[in-house]
Amino acid sequence: MNKNSSNTMALAPNTSNKRETVCIFGTGDFGRALGHKMIQSGYPVVYGSRSTQISNLIPKDAEVLGHAEAAQKAAIIIIAVQRQHYNFLTPLAEVLHGKVLVDISNNVKLNQYPDSNAEHLAQLLPGSKVVKAFNTVSAWALQSGTLDASRQVFVCGDDVEAKQMVMNIVRALGLTPLDKGSLLAAQEIENYPLQLFPMWKFPIFLSLGLTAFFLLYCVVLDIVYTYIYENNNFSFFIAITIPNRVCPVMALILLALVYLPGIFAAIIQLYRGTKYRRFPDWLDKWMLCRKQLGLIALAFASLHVLFTLVTPLRAFASWRTSKGIISQALNNKTEPLNHTNAWLSDSYLALGILGFFLFVLLGITSLPSVSNNVNWREFRFVQSKLGYLALILCTAHTLVYGGKWFLSPTAYKWYLPNIYILSLIVPCAVLVVKFVLIFPCIDKPLTQIRQGWERNPKYSE
Ligand code: NAP
Repeated sequence: MNKNSSNTMALAPNTSNKRETVCIFGTGDFGRALGHKMIQSGYPVVYGSRSTQISNLIPKDAEVLGHAEAAQKAAIIIIAVQRQHYNFLTPLAEVLHGKVLVDISNNVKLNQYPDSNAEHLAQLLPGSKVVKAFNTVSAWALQSGTLDASRQVFVCGDDVEAKQMVMNIVRALGLTPLDKGSLLAAQEIENYPLQLFPMWKFPIFLSLGLTAFFLLYCVVLDIVYTYIYENNNFSFFIAITIPNRVCPVMALILLALVYLPGIFAAIIQLYRGTKYRRFPDWLDKWMLCRKQLGLIALAFASLHVLFTLVTPLRAFASWRTSKGIISQALNNKTEPLNHTNAWLSDSYLALGILGFFLFVLLGITSLPSVSNNVNWREFRFVQSKLGYLALILCTAHTLVYGGKWFLSPTAYKWYLPNIYILSLIVPCAVLVVKFVLIFPCIDKPLTQIRQGWERNPKYSE
């Protein structure tokens, strides 16, 4: 074969790559942004609008026609108009017959209408093939090109061919289509952009509530009590000392709360003798937000590390050190090194560092980019085994640090226990029950139940 001819073929324009014209109804923000992106990707775009006047905002190479005229020029019509105006489409039923209509609309409230916008459109125009797509992409992201976070486009529709045509456009725009099935999925897809951190609500409210409680608790015991009974004004404790008490307490309690629902689930399964009965709703919800609880716990632990690192820079810390040195100089006496204290402080620091290291490891493996690259067994090993090890180390860190206060009567100001005593209740309870659960006489039936064995099978052979 002639070498030159193959080169010529490679360089010749590929006429089969010519894109089909796409029609967009509506010259609003989204219609313009999508049209702009489509023209960049090689699609001829024709707008169907109430006004055929060309404005500066309309992409340069696009045509603007009346709705019926524009629809005749394309097989795919993107409806970039709010649902409440869909009635203008009814008189166009004939011209839209057999065409693919892409519903990109969103609502302002969750479940605003009994049916989804896409199903409503399909009902208005039964002769057209309705596909839901693009509603989770914002006009701003399309126009500014910052689509990294929202590359995925959910697509659903009853006509497989129509869905394929829309998915091809999505790919041509450099986005990733995700087939969500039939038009029945449209309601769910329309609800996505309206959800506000659904998995984060409970962890955030719980953390805020507990943080507020512990902050108040510390203010009362460390500032108000000292002011009343010792006449010392330690109000500046509110800036670093108290946050550095509350942060580790929150980190430890939240980490324990990540493992507590698993303990409840095991007890419920053992009691019922089956895994085939649903957990109560509250437990289901709690299990689903364990990752979020863990990440908030990690944030508190990181703050604790930062607060601890700046401690030597504080005026209060240098005042206390120099006070100790001066008092030794005045008494002409050098305090001998207290080996017990040295052991305790080195141990609690070492336990804290190791616990924090595992905490960070847990956080990293919960990132989708990392968890997608480990298999289920590896993921379970890190999240369960190393997670429990992190809980043990962090609990030991708190016990070694706060242990000295547990028996001291000065720790019970106004008969209230020290914050470190409170912080240990949940983690210790989790660890003790977990220890009981791993006894072979309990672990064996639990493992059998989790593999499908039932004490009283409902459907016996
Ligand atoms: P918009 O700026 O208000 O534009 C809507 C367009 O609809 C108007 O420019 C108008 O175009 C047309 N229109 C308005 N009233 C009409 C009527 N009575 N009859 C016929 N056409 C009418 O809204 P948008 O932000 O582009 O949003 C359009 C759709 O895209 C909405 O359903 C929205 O939920 C969805 N969406 C928007 C975004 C976004 O980031 N903006 C993201 C995802 C989905 P003409 O003047 O040319 O007729």
